[in-house]
Amino acid sequence: MADRFFPNEMPDYIPETQSLESAEVAASDSLTKLLHLPIRTLCQGLTKEALHIKETIVNETWIAKRKRVDDFTLYTGSLGTAFLLFKAYQVTKDRNDLALCSDIIKACDSASRGSSRVTFICGVAGVCALGAVVAKHIGDEHLCQRYLTQFKQIKFPKDLPNEILYGRAGFLWACSFLNKNIGEGTISTTRMRTVTDEIIKSGRKLAKGLCPLMYEWHGKKYWGAAHGLAGIMYILMDMDLKADEVEDVKGTLRYMIKSCFPSGNYPSSERSESDRLVHWCHGAPGIALTLVKAAKVFGGEEFLQAAITAGEVVWNRGLLKRVGICHGISGNTYVFLSLYQLTGDPKFLYRAKAFACFLHDKAQTSISEGIIHGGDRPHSLFEGIGGMAHLFLDMNDPSQAKFPGYEL
Ligand SMILES: [Zn+2]
Repeated sequence: MADRFFPNEMPDYIPETQSLESAEVAASDSLTKLLHLPIRTLCQGLTKEALHIKETIVNETWIAKRKRVDDFTLYTGSLGTAFLLFKAYQVTKDRNDLALCSDIIKACDSASRGSSRVTFICGVAGVCALGAVVAKHIGDEHLCQRYLTQFKQIKFPKDLPNEILYGRAGFLWACSFLNKNIGEGTISTTRMRTVTDEIIKSGRKLAKGLCPLMYEWHGKKYWGAAHGLAGIMYILMDMDLKADEVEDVKGTLRYMIKSCFPSGNYPSSERSESDRLVHWCHGAPGIALTLVKAAKVFGGEEFLQAAITAGEVVWNRGLLKRVGICHGISGNTYVFLSLYQLTGDPKFLYRAKAFACFLHDKAQTSISEGIIHGGDRPHSLFEGIGGMAHLFLDMNDPSQAKFPGYEL
């Protein structure tokens, strides 16, 4: 099991030092020095590396490909490059990044025509939704409306699953993203209610007394964020639910909490006994983010405590030998940022810093030495260094950091 992740040998907590000099005094090696840096100083280094990675990614996924898009998705494709450029623009206000972001989305738009995928992360909803929001920032009202019209024309194929990557929940996430960034009511509650109804109905149908809601993807009852319960519950908590639906969501989360492994980690699917994966896609990290959301929405101690317990698993086993956000260190770092936002506890901010420092200190060299897997799509947002650059940029404002395509 241990070959999946590095043992976490970093101190549990280091209070912030106020100056570079005290970091030098405390440091015995490069990682320890980074851990002692004041966050402002650390962020200057992280931002510099992130912007350098962004340039590499633009070169590899856009310029070297002669602006041709073969994979349009946010997950492994060109929309991920656009999403990173948008984040870079938000941090640096460099409008060149915003303009390039818009050009890449236009190419993704052409490449995604005819696709039957409907979600934000892997489908056309991502292209139209990000396109509309970026057009709004550029001030191109006509382009914004064009993307919104296309979004509203998205048709669901038959046998659409419910999960986030390819299913209804991933479409609803795009609706919420639009309503948050363009304005409430951009996508009507009626449209969202219809999709929510379908999700609730199929969840109740499959549950059969097991727990209030249950779902399948490719014949398996997944629990994680990408294909399963955690992701679907996350999205449902953002919807305007009826009282009985709220109880079903709470009941499903309680069922999961009750059935976690003795280690505190979560099975990747129903009845799985393999306590192996500590990823956003499968295992404690994605579920921790959902539990943080539940603690925010429902209040009370039970979801907060469960989120903190899941966060401990991520701290102990989350230094994966991959860098991305789906199943890598960068994604796991968002758990601590989310817990920090919920609790205000500086320990969680330190832990986010620690994971980011680990990446900043070791990722690029370890990838080139083959110690860390660079990802099947090494320049992508979800599997590659794109996610790491996004995280580094997000560290500039830890109170607002959000896991791409998941936290809103
Ligand atoms: Zn994954």
